[in-house]
Amino acid sequence: MDYQPFTEEDFLFLKSLVGEERVSRGQSNLTIHSHDESFHAGYFPDVVVWPKKTEEVSTILSHANKRKIPVTPWGVGTSLEGNPLPMYKGIVLDFDQMDKILAIRAEDFQVDVQAGVKYQDMNKALRWNGLFFAPDPGANATIGGMIGNNASGVRTVKYGGTRDNVAKLTVVLANGDVIHPGNFAQKSSSGYDLVHLIIGSEGTLGIVTEATLKLAGIPERFSAAVATFPTVKQATQAVYDIMGLGLGPAALELLDVSTIKVINNEAQAGLKEAPTLFIEFTGTSDVALNEDVKFAETICADNGSSGFQAGVGRDERNRLWENRHKAYEYIKRSNPGQDFMILDTAVPLSKYQEMVEFAVETIEKFRIKGYAFGHAGDGNLHLVIAGDFSDAAFCKKRDEANFEIVSHAIAMGGTATGEHGVGIGKRKFMSLEHGESLNLMKQIKKMMDPNGILNPGKMFE
Ligand SMILES: Cc1cc2nc3c(=O)[nH]c(=O)nc-3n(C[C@H](O)[C@H](O)[C@H](O)COP(=O)(O)OP(=O)(O)OC[C@H]3O[C@@H](n4cnc5c(N)ncnc54)[C@H](O)[C@@H]3O)c2cc1C
Repeated sequence: MDYQPFTEEDFLFLKSLVGEERVSRGQSNLTIHSHDESFHAGYFPDVVVWPKKTEEVSTILSHANKRKIPVTPWGVGTSLEGNPLPMYKGIVLDFDQMDKILAIRAEDFQVDVQAGVKYQDMNKALRWNGLFFAPDPGANATIGGMIGNNASGVRTVKYGGTRDNVAKLTVVLANGDVIHPGNFAQKSSSGYDLVHLIIGSEGTLGIVTEATLKLAGIPERFSAAVATFPTVKQATQAVYDIMGLGLGPAALELLDVSTIKVINNEAQAGLKEAPTLFIEFTGTSDVALNEDVKFAETICADNGSSGFQAGVGRDERNRLWENRHKAYEYIKRSNPGQDFMILDTAVPLSKYQEMVEFAVETIEKFRIKGYAFGHAGDGNLHLVIAGDFSDAAFCKKRDEANFEIVSHAIAMGGTATGEHGVGIGKRKFMSLEHGESLNLMKQIKKMMDPNGILNPGKMFE
């Protein structure tokens, strides 16, 4: 695509639209918006704008489309694949100031929000209504960013990911037109499903300014357990059995020994250093919960568990999930001076054991340091590769290992990315994963964004 350079006139246009306070070419603002949480090289935008309303986003896109200037939406930049990086410069739209909860419609278990609201802040407000938005990527991401990446988290095994919990959107298209796909009903068979087309499109098809989210009731009771096993193989078999026997956990996470060791070192967690499952059940009565936990304990024992600590209290349970959410941060902290690539494969549950074993064997084969953990109940594995990314020989090994592991996941009927999105890093796997469907995806992109101004460089190579 041939983009036009961003000019002084463009800057004046933006300034006259949103005012001086909400547009910046300052070096620090450009730097903040040049990198996310991934290892990918930084890209600087020409300008950052903080819109406050849908109409402003619409006017900016209409202008940028006529002028052929790239526009990249930005939540808080916690992506792990370079998803919000302005690869072709242009305008970054930062949604920090569109962070309002517009209406809590508790009677319908729904909330209307602006795209820049952060899900953890929103859940704090929803608590008073006994409701919450279930997808929880750990980092305090924006709803726009979660929709962009179709984020999920530890509770996806019970409640689904972002895609399963959005009813309706306000979307600004590349030419500035505004659409409102979706409705407030619990279900619909009406027309093409544009809501779900936009979710996971990483800002490449349209920019979300508002969303109606589906909420769940905060469970009355919960019970958490920690199960340890002599081998990862036994732990993953227990995952399969827990899911297969219909136990329906609210969370089911796998952590390998290296990850547990890091958590112990960084958070003095005192966990047994063995392949581990964090399990949570939620419900309305202690009696039913105790039965679920007992059944899970039996399943773990049948798979040779070496420890099962049940009935974890509220504080300890919160600490467990905090440690799980911070696992990536702890890995980074315990490897000072190193760089990190995080893999995000997801496979059918019957193949999860093979996926984990293959990933661990592959990094051992390449003599690479890695940490394996993930949302096991969803068949989702994160493998963090640590090393010196300025060392060309190391990068060659890293890339070969990455290619082998991701290709294997796809060959097993899985995906290159369960929740982090394609961004920059997974583009090379799109053809392998989607085959001829990729052509249709490219046609949809061309039809919705003929000038290619929306988050260019992402999704397709
Ligand atoms: C420590 C850590 C743990 C994480 N754990 C998880 C996890 O468990 N599960 C998970 O899914 N992710 C996880 N992530 C990744 C990340 O937090 C999520 O992908 C999150 O949804 C990104 O949100 P954000 O607000 O930071 O968006 P950004 O990173 O700013 O943007 C994400 C994408 O959405 C687009 N976008 C942003 N706003 C809009 C909008 N308004 N309209 C359209 N597109 C938009 C951007 O252009 C970009 O392509 C983790 C990240 C970190 C650092």
